[in-house]
Amino acid sequence: MSFASLGLSDEIVRAVTERGYTVPTPIQMQAIPAVMSGGDLLAGAQTGTGKTAGFVLPILHRLSDPNVKGPSSGRPPIRALILIPTRELAAQVEESVRDYGKHLKLNSMTMIGGVNINPQITKLRGRVDILVATPGRLLDHVQQKTVDLSHVEILVLDEADRMLDMGFIRDIKKILALLPKHRQNLLFSATFSDEIKALADGLLNKPAMIEV
Ligand code: AMP
Repeated sequence: MSFASLGLSDEIVRAVTERGYTVPTPIQMQAIPAVMSGGDLLAGAQTGTGKTAGFVLPILHRLSDPNVKGPSSGRPPIRALILIPTRELAAQVEESVRDYGKHLKLNSMTMIGGVNINPQITKLRGRVDILVATPGRLLDHVQQKTVDLSHVEILVLDEADRMLDMGFIRDIKKILALLPKHRQNLLFSATFSDEIKALADGLLNKPAMIEV
């Protein structure tokens, strides 16, 4: 099994190869085709399994696929939103987005708290296809009307159990209410409490389910 045989575009396979990966991990083998198909996904996966590339690679593929309907006119909107519990993880995930997407024409941005908001506001005035955000700072931008989430096509909740443990459920619900109804939803969690199951039930539409 290779990344090319999963159907990923040449540009993405090239970036993965340059990073030194030859074989997809088990979660990647399952998640990549599921996400490429456009459906929802519920994935049970710990960190260290390669789950980041499991969602980043097919998201890059879909957003750069001319057959997937993108924005028709006007200022290019945010098309993918990746919600992450911590600043460190958000920076890491966005670095992966940039690295795996280096041969594509997609722009990404990290949006985290604890840093000055003004450079983020400036960056949001330009093109941001993929936004990697922690919930609190994203809601600060929502309040200041400096971010528009009304064209998000793909939502990822990464480490959903940690986000709930950190008390982000109300923030997440506020954010979900701002997204278009028609979208693809991916939920990754290492554990499945009743609270996670309830969140998944409300969020996901006939999801593919994978566990590694
Ligand atoms: P993650 O679970 O996404 O945090 O990834 C864990 C580690 O595995 C990271 O350091 C990745 O760079 C690495 N990794 C991800 N996919 C692969 C792969 N297919 N082959 C080798 N290493 C990988």
